[in-house]
Amino acid sequence: MKPLFGGIEGGGTKFVCAVGTGPDDIRAETRFPTTTPAETMGKAVEFFKEYEGLSAIGVACFGPLDPSPASPTFGRIMPTPKPGWTNVDVVGALRAAFDLPVGFDTDVDGAALSEWRWGAAQNCNPVLYLTIGTGIGGGALINGNLLHGLIHPEMGHIPLPHDLERDPFIGACPFHNDCFEGLAAGPAIEKRWGQKAETLPPDHPAWDLEAHYIALALQSYICTLSPQRIVIGGGVTQQAHMMPLIRAKVQKMLNGYVQSSAITQNIAEYIVLPGLGNRAGVLGAIALAEQALQA
Ligand code: ADP
Ligand code: ZN
Repeated sequence: MKPLFGGIEGGGTKFVCAVGTGPDDIRAETRFPTTTPAETMGKAVEFFKEYEGLSAIGVACFGPLDPSPASPTFGRIMPTPKPGWTNVDVVGALRAAFDLPVGFDTDVDGAALSEWRWGAAQNCNPVLYLTIGTGIGGGALINGNLLHGLIHPEMGHIPLPHDLERDPFIGACPFHNDCFEGLAAGPAIEKRWGQKAETLPPDHPAWDLEAHYIALALQSYICTLSPQRIVIGGGVTQQAHMMPLIRAKVQKMLNGYVQSSAITQNIAEYIVLPGLGNRAGVLGAIALAEQALQA
């Protein structure tokens, strides 16, 4: 019998909890708003208490957080602007209620793992998963293991060349102004153009600039990580016309230097949308549970 897992997708505005074994077998799901840590974690515990026979629980959560089991602060949220959540011991709250292995990582790392396990990046090594939404984050999977180091990668905060003549917007990151996230996340698009990204028509100049920034970042990740596949999710990639633009710009920027047919000939299968769609998050939590059981 396949082990049964609990998964929590912990987002800044809502929590999604599920019980299942994988994408074709989610047996129950619930969602509720993210409020105080005690109330929110309490609801999650209450939900899982109804299920017998869970083998592990996984949490794919907003960060920053401590994902290293060997660290004394493993399982905690690190300083965050989200009121009340700094230092909250998410794993501790689950361990107090359940005698089970608990996997814990960022939402983006969870999505990277689930896309490798069941989605658009199966059999690829390394895998890069990038999300472009309210923030920008990236997760890397190497030999089936999520890349952790000091903490977890912060791929949204890399600096990018910023041509102030073409784009006088100073950027929206409170730490760095014009890092990748500061220039290209949803709120940056909204501040630059004075309207929500989803209301900008496909022929608006915003999209060529957006694709330019995404391609610059991908060029850096391709040159440093040499991923075999890049999966891009998040609200901004709901603009279907963006993917061909991003691919063409990446090819042009790399200029033939990275000699792989994945880039020179088959880039449509190299830079792709998530195979699990908007379920990558909660399935990421289930995949983290599966990994915790195997650890
Ligand atoms: P979150 O990052 O909060 O989990 P999303 O990935 O949906 O959620 O990202 C929300 C951001 O994406 C917002 O800034 C929003 O303006 C932008 N966004 C949402 N839908 C679209 C769309 N269809 N086209 C472009 N931008 C979008
Ligand atoms: Zn930044």
